[in-house]
Amino acid sequence: MYDFLRKRHCVRGHEYTPANTYVMKSGHRQCKTCKRALNRRDRDLSVNPPLRRKVQFNGRTQTITEWARELGINRTTLFFRFNNGWSIERALTTPPPDAGQEEG
Ligand SMILES: [Zn+2]
Repeated sequence: MYDFLRKRHCVRGHEYTPANTYVMKSGHRQCKTCKRALNRRDRDLSVNPPLRRKVQFNGRTQTITEWARELGINRTTLFFRFNNGWSIERALTTPPPDAGQEEG
């Protein structure tokens, strides 16, 4: 029996519909939904600094988490700033936003 007929879902449970199936030269099928998710994750990693990324500032190197703790800025806020292309200096020296005030 053909593999195609035997397995109807990928390992993550997405259905192998013709539209959702990518067939490689080797004959193996790949779920397009998973493939897309993988590509997106790779792209995100190149943009979003991973949790352990070290940031050098004022002659010291710490992770973003450590800077957040030291500066009293929400870690999520710092990640948000880096993800939006803020410079290290601006991200670390801008005071935390007041409650209810939009950042940007
Ligand atoms: Zn899948």
